[in-house]
Amino acid sequence: MRFDIITIFPEMFSAIRDEGVIARGIKDSLLSIHTWQLRDFTKNKYRNVDDRPYGGGPGMVMQVQPIRDCIGAIKKEIPNTRVIYLSPQGRKLDQSLISELLQYENITLLCGRYEGIDQRIIDHDVDMEVSIGDYVISGGELAAMVLIDSMGRQVKGVLGNSESTQDSFFDGHLEYPQYSRPEEIDGQKVPDVLLSGHQKNIDTWREEQSKLNTSSKRKDLLNKTELD
Ligand code: SAM
Repeated sequence: MRFDIITIFPEMFSAIRDEGVIARGIKDSLLSIHTWQLRDFTKNKYRNVDDRPYGGGPGMVMQVQPIRDCIGAIKKEIPNTRVIYLSPQGRKLDQSLISELLQYENITLLCGRYEGIDQRIIDHDVDMEVSIGDYVISGGELAAMVLIDSMGRQVKGVLGNSESTQDSFFDGHLEYPQYSRPEEIDGQKVPDVLLSGHQKNIDTWREEQSKLNTSSKRKDLLNKTELD
């Protein structure tokens, strides 16, 4: 899976490119991340990518020309890339959207800054807007990294032997509680079943705990039959 990222802050992506699960996926050639410095596509001497909004109002707006030219350059290399604009106004990111997006081999992520981007890019050049939640952050880079990380860890092989299929949300529930050594600390013990070595009982316990966890923390995730 290949991600092309349009940004004025490409160095921010070292956070996932150099450390952790995604970095390992890149090293194993299961993922690739290519950043495009939007300022390289400007035609003005100051390399500005923004201008004042028509109609007045606060802040600046990212202009059409550099973004359109940058998308054009990416599409010359990867004609079938799907262009996603990270935006608080987009479809909210969740497991079902991640599963949908995993069908695409090539994704371009457009990171906004300032007050956002000129609407004509959204109308003409963007395939989808994706939001990481109902709040506003200062730029699309962090949102793009959330998207890359949440998708990347589900690309086959990236997590190695451990599977993302037991993670919260994968089957619609929250994950069961996890414990590690020691068996007891400050009077708090690990549940006996996890020490029993009886895998079937462990699996049953985990399934029950996963449902209990979901019902106490996120009832909204349970379907009607589970609620009855
Ligand atoms: N004025 C815009 C609005 O109210 O819709 C918000 C602009 S925000 C300060 C700058 C950029 O951050 C956006 O263009 C977008 O790329 C990114 N951004 C902000 N919040 C986001 C969110 N919840 N999800 C995804 N991207 C977000």
